Amino acid sequence: MLGSFWSLYLVSIIKTSAATQQALILSIIIGLISTTISSGPLSSTLVFWLPLTLGSFCAIDVSGHMQSPAFVISLSGYTALVFFTMVFLNRKMLERSVNEINLAKTGETIRILLRDFEENASDWLWETNTEGEIKHVSPRFAEVARQPPSAIQGDLLAFMAGGDHTLRRVRPAEGDVFEPLRRRMIARKPFRDMVMPVNMGGERRWWSMTGKPVQDSSGRFIGYRGVGSDVTAVHRSRERIAYLARHDSLTDLANRTEFNNVLTLLLSESAQPSAALLCLDLDQFKAVNDSYGHGLGDSVLRAVAHRIRGAIRDRDVAARLGGDEFSIVLPSDDEFEATAIADRIIDRVSRPYKFDGVTVEIGVTIGIALAPRDGKTPETLYRNADLALYRAKDAGRGTWRLFDPTMDRQLQDRRGLQRDIKSALRNDQLFVEFQPVIELATRSVVGLEALVRWKHPDRDIISPGDFIEIAERSGLIGAITAFVLSEAAALVAQLPSFVAVAVNLSPLHLREAWLVDQVSEIIRHAGVAPDRIEFEVTETAVLETEGRTIDNLHRLRALGCRIAIDDFGTGYSSLATLSRFPFDRLKIDRSFINDLENNAADAPIVKAIIDLSQTMGLRVTAEGVETERQADILTRYQCDDIQGFLYSPPVRKAEVLQLFKSGQTITGLSVGCAVPGPAVRQATQARRPQQPMPQHSSFE
Ligand code: C2E
Ligand code: CA
Ligand code: CA
Repeated sequence: MLGSFWSLYLVSIIKTSAATQQALILSIIIGLISTTISSGPLSSTLVFWLPLTLGSFCAIDVSGHMQSPAFVISLSGYTALVFFTMVFLNRKMLERSVNEINLAKTGETIRILLRDFEENASDWLWETNTEGEIKHVSPRFAEVARQPPSAIQGDLLAFMAGGDHTLRRVRPAEGDVFEPLRRRMIARKPFRDMVMPVNMGGERRWWSMTGKPVQDSSGRFIGYRGVGSDVTAVHRSRERIAYLARHDSLTDLANRTEFNNVLTLLLSESAQPSAALLCLDLDQFKAVNDSYGHGLGDSVLRAVAHRIRGAIRDRDVAARLGGDEFSIVLPSDDEFEATAIADRIIDRVSRPYKFDGVTVEIGVTIGIALAPRDGKTPETLYRNADLALYRAKDAGRGTWRLFDPTMDRQLQDRRGLQRDIKSALRNDQLFVEFQPVIELATRSVVGLEALVRWKHPDRDIISPGDFIEIAERSGLIGAITAFVLSEAAALVAQLPSFVAVAVNLSPLHLREAWLVDQVSEIIRHAGVAPDRIEFEVTETAVLETEGRTIDNLHRLRALGCRIAIDDFGTGYSSLATLSRFPFDRLKIDRSFINDLENNAADAPIVKAIIDLSQTMGLRVTAEGVETERQADILTRYQCDDIQGFLYSPPVRKAEVLQLFKSGQTITGLSVGCAVPGPAVRQATQARRPQQPMPQHSSFE
């Protein structure tokens, strides 16, 4: 209406106006049209603009100015510009309004969501002012803090840390868990998921805090706003996982990773690091596991761990590194202290264990290395403690040894052997000696045991005890046994048919699938009756219940060969072993025979072993017979055969042949051949101290 009135008015007055007045009116018209640019809804501005524009054109027509084209063109352009500006501004304004409305809506949604969040979620919102003081306490916050909302006030940090901490505190303590948060807040930096222990209602809880600095519209810092959540459950399970990652789940001792960390820390801690490393090895544990099953094995390990823990002090760390391997680290290099602890552990661990009616006895052997004397890094210390352990085992289980540098030299020697053994077979450096086995009843040679030796180019003759294990590890044991067996079979083929030859089988080799084919091929090639070949296996080899061992033994026996159980009495479940396989012979270990005269306890054991074996149909050989008195006792016990330096050390093939060829020794005997006379005995005894026998002895 306003637009229409204006235009009517203009049209009516311009007719009667003078030229100057008309110019004034035209200016007013132009000004009026431009007012439509001012804000307002498009519809109403349009309604104002349209009559005003039409009226203006009429007024100009009436005044006669229409004849001037320049005027008409510029006016039309002007009104069009006003029109488009008007539309454009209107659209912009509309957009802004819509945005504002949406924004208001979003704000409302956020408010609703936040309220919902506060009511239902485990998290809560918190706000502080510029001084770090809590501003707004939601019900959820109060609930988690276990305090009425009114009690939650003041410095946020002080509230969480229990008072002795504020944002502006002047003396930060070392290792303070709140310090990182404090530093961030002082620096007005955002932070995320900072986990801290808090004491709420007398209980230690864990809170995770996330927050960011807030600015007002002018960019001025007005405080912090963020979310807190109680992560106690997660934290506890994380702690548990971390604990499990550092501990052995069976025994609760430290595990390898943790132990390595402790050792590394001890060795790197100060300028003068000092520590003692004890490496423990359980004796006979494998046998316990094999005989009674893993369940009992686990119980034994747990009990052992318990006793170890009882034998060390709080500052010492014990670990199970795997299997039956334990280690202990002491934070001092005091030799006396370390060996005293070793003694205590040996004493405690080797006491009998009782589980559901089963009594188990195991021993422990310990190697000790001291830092810095025996090594400054964990690696050298481990290696040297291990070497000492190795030595301790050699010296007799149930003992400890301190590392000394000669052990290192011996290790170097072993390394050298490991390298050289590969070419030993190829270069004919291995040879076999044979030790006669004498039947007690007739005192005649009825068998031989083949024993391998190594003539190393730069050394004395190396005894099998020093290289069999290396050969096993280098995968050469099969080839070596094949060589020994061929030599043995070739020799026995030249001897009277009542003579048998025994060959030692390594447990490792005994597991091989191809063992039986290999053996039968060699025996066939030598052309000897299989029952003249006997294989000696140790108890521990037979204890191996899994795999092919027992199967292979049965197949060897099916071939016609005989099987002897070697070193009897050194293993664990001796009698149980006997029932696992139908053995032909049992060889009583030298350690029992050694003590026969002196150790009263051994005599009845030896007698019992002989009696029992004979009831089971086994022949019995006593190993390592060195004196007449031992031979006498064994004769009284009705032992079948003996073997040992008393009659002969292991000798070369030529000497064996010589022995059987010699008319003198064969005559006078109905079975077998005569035992060598005193001359051989003398020679044997003279050489006994240096094992193995490097030279040949001769039967005279
Ligand atoms: P072993 O089977 O118990 O062999 C008997 C060992 O006792 C031999 O040592 C022998 O020289 C020694 N010996 C014999 N009589 C006496 C004695 O009266 N007193 C003392 N103190 N010792 C005596 P050797 O030849 O050093 O062999 C050591 C071990 O090496 C053997 O113990 C056997 O287990 C193993 N071995 C030897 N040859 C072979 C082989 O060809 N293959 C495998 N796998 N092992 C072998
Ligand atoms: Ca043997
Ligand atoms: Ca033996």
